[in-house]
Amino acid sequence: MEKTGILYLCATPIGNLGDVSARFLEVFRSVDIIAAEDTRQTIKIMNHFDIHKPLTSYHEHNKRQKGEYLCSLMLSGKSVALVSDAGTPAISDPGEDLVRMCIEKGIEVTSIPGPAALINALILSGLSTKRFSFEGFLSVNKRHRAEHLNQLKSDTHTLIFYEAPHKLPYTLDDMLKVFGDRRIALARELTKLHEEVKRTTLAEAAEFYKTEKPRGEYVIVVEGASECSEPENPWEGVEIKEHVDKYVSGGMSVKDAIKQAAADRGMPKREVYAVYHDV
Ligand code: SAM
Repeated sequence: MEKTGILYLCATPIGNLGDVSARFLEVFRSVDIIAAEDTRQTIKIMNHFDIHKPLTSYHEHNKRQKGEYLCSLMLSGKSVALVSDAGTPAISDPGEDLVRMCIEKGIEVTSIPGPAALINALILSGLSTKRFSFEGFLSVNKRHRAEHLNQLKSDTHTLIFYEAPHKLPYTLDDMLKVFGDRRIALARELTKLHEEVKRTTLAEAAEFYKTEKPRGEYVIVVEGASECSEPENPWEGVEIKEHVDKYVSGGMSVKDAIKQAAADRGMPKREVYAVYHDV
């Protein structure tokens, strides 16, 4: 019986050709065919490293029939290298469908690890890397987008999003509305000449991009909910009168007790006065 082939998931640079690994080159030179999300990007790598292999496209719009074709090649013993337009295949691209198809058909799948924009953005962000959640691209559909953000509102993990530059200002505004102000990192053009990590807050970034045009590719890293939540207020649930009387019974004048209670609760003095004196 013929030996089944194999699918290699090959990570490609996210901007710097120097990030191509020795194993990547070995695999690219040995496989029977290379399947690429964007053949124009992949040709650049092949030309640079003088690699001559059959190249075919595999993308969102042909993934079903091309996936079947690639699987038939692998079932007949051929080996296939899959690459996305940049970074790790199967992350925010149709590679995950081909992986599933191979698993269903009993075809071996292995990976040649390398760059992934989300991991580089996370480790450069300065935010917690202990627990994080990759959220990919937000939907362009307003309702789905709002639902997605609302689901994440109290998530304590560091949140990572991909975004296209022209949508960045709207996304920052939407995030600010739902999450409130939080620390964020905007990682731009990673591994490229103009690499930049802006460590700022959602409010500041939303303001900045009202006038500044975003340029290049961005990853948005947002601080999780717990890290920026307000410390618990020990006076929560205590009536205003009881609150003021606690200070009065401790020896304070009523005037000073009202002033202190107002400060504790972050309320104007006159409001505390009005409640205390029933006016
Ligand atoms: N599979 C890829 C990966 O592993 O990162 C991601 C593909 S996704 C279609 C493309 C998105 O990744 C971009 O819109 C941007 O958010 C992010 N991205 C890719 N390269 C980047 C870079 N050099 N700097 C910042 N973000 C990048």
